[in-house]
Amino acid sequence: MESDALGDFRYVGARRRLIERIREQGIEDLEILRLFDRVPRHLFIPEALLHRAYEDAPVPIGFGQTASQPSLQAFYLELLRPTPDDRILEVGTGSGYLTALLALMGDRVYSVERIRSLSTRARGVLDSLGYRNVALMVGDGTIGWRKFAPFDIITVSAASPDVPQALLDQLADGGRMLVPVGDRTVQDLLLIRRVGDELHRTGVRDGCTFVPLLGRYGWSPAPGDPEGD
Ligand code: SAM
Repeated sequence: MESDALGDFRYVGARRRLIERIREQGIEDLEILRLFDRVPRHLFIPEALLHRAYEDAPVPIGFGQTASQPSLQAFYLELLRPTPDDRILEVGTGSGYLTALLALMGDRVYSVERIRSLSTRARGVLDSLGYRNVALMVGDGTIGWRKFAPFDIITVSAASPDVPQALLDQLADGGRMLVPVGDRTVQDLLLIRRVGDELHRTGVRDGCTFVPLLGRYGWSPAPGDPEGD
């Protein structure tokens, strides 16, 4: 999975600077920091915005969506700590960049995206980089992916009015889930751990702003929201 694109001289310095930014945001775990040097983020970003590929900021990927801020993704990885045995459900594939980072840490990643064009693009990039432990689906991720449940990790990259019950039902014993919950403008990021029948919820960051999670257990699409498939 090491790509020639990693050696592209135009991006080597930018990638190193991004890792330094992420470290400055408080992520000290070397295993996680090194992951950001193993995935050529510029391949996941639309060509017109390549100059922003290694900014520590959300980058538009079309359809009103964004590739999330890298230091936030590092925070997700630090909280979830995927291990090589973990089966992971990702809701909101978007660019596929977090999918790649998760695939380097876990056993298998099942990622759902409601916008077909984004999923198709992500699939092309992940295939070209040789990721074999990723399955992508176009659909409503708020209902999870029952066929492959339960999941050791569930990560939601869009904001929900509440924690989707279907996702809680598909969380394995010992599993952990991250989901931003709040209104459509500001949310708290919740870490949920399942221990047997008990669910332990912890707020890990407040004042976040994610794009809305649109679906059966999320928000209903409003005027201006992108069409799903
Ligand atoms: N981790 C992704 C990245 O860095 O590219 C984040 C992408 S963006 C912040 C969130 C994504 O969630 C968008 O692509 C959006 O279309 C998708 N999304 C929103 N509601 C969804 C749903 N019900 N099921 C699946 N994907 C959904």
